Amino acid sequence: MRLVEGRSLAAEIRRTIGQEAGRLRAEGAPPALAALIATDDPATAWYHDAIARATADVGIDFRTVRVEPADARGVIDRLDELSADSQIHGIICLTPLPPGLTLARAGERIAPRKDVDGANPTSLGRLAVGLPAFAPATAQAVMELLPAARARLVGADAVVVGRSDVVGKPAALMLLREHATVTICHSRTENLASITSRADVLVAAAGRPGLIGAEHVKPGAVVIDVGTNAAEDGSIVGDVDFDAVAGIAGAITPVPGGVGPVTTAVLLRNVVAATAIARRR
Ligand code: NAP
Repeated sequence: MRLVEGRSLAAEIRRTIGQEAGRLRAEGAPPALAALIATDDPATAWYHDAIARATADVGIDFRTVRVEPADARGVIDRLDELSADSQIHGIICLTPLPPGLTLARAGERIAPRKDVDGANPTSLGRLAVGLPAFAPATAQAVMELLPAARARLVGADAVVVGRSDVVGKPAALMLLREHATVTICHSRTENLASITSRADVLVAAAGRPGLIGAEHVKPGAVVIDVGTNAAEDGSIVGDVDFDAVAGIAGAITPVPGGVGPVTTAVLLRNVVAATAIARRR
């Protein structure tokens, strides 16, 4: 079984970004990311702080925009302002959002050229039809881990568990683009194991700790665990029961240390790309 470490891949991506960010800064265009936050959820605060540290490491400016009190109008107004702000090149809208506001609705207010986490439905639509767009960083991270897992995609059976707009759907679209035969499962799927156990490539993105056990995995399959769930003891666990699956899978990503660090690195790379695009305009 191959353990597909995300940290080393993330470090490699960040090295390249650091150089590129330094070059843009020297040219007078320091890349800048804004994170909008409208919640006091501790997991969101943790992700926000991780992004802040990562941007500092690679030389990207970072601005936090807090919406307090958290209401839908405030989120929309701040996103409109950030979309119009020439000093900001990338915008990420952290979740959860205030009641009544979906990420798709908020994402519509992020200018597509600054939509570094693929939240604008336009980005997902462009991805679907093969036009250039920023894909959600997590889904992109899944795709970037597959070569390290030595996954064969052309003609392979790929199963994605989860159909969210930010992980499951875009991951499925990108697997399809790579000529896999893709099945998407969700909470209403009947007999999940009968479907996942056919998968050559299995992407678990349900947010259910231990959902994927030995019976869900085909021998030799590549298993990418996107799940990031808080366990009772405070640790972070994936959707895959790692110990049960490790002896069956051909390759597997750990949690933590798999998809997570690559997601952050991809987000930063998108900010640098958005900055370079803005400079050419
Ligand atoms: P989400 O919006 O809650 O979507 C979860 C999806 O899983 C839904 O489509 C849901 O089906 C499906 N699902 C739930 N229970 C299921 C079950 N028992 N069997 C099959 N499908 C089931 O979550 P998300 O934002 O996509 O995130 C998914 C996981 O990835 C979470 O653990 C999240 O923390 C993690 N995540 C990690 C990163 C990272 O960088 N590592 C980034 C983002 C998210 P329905 O549509 O029918 O409800």
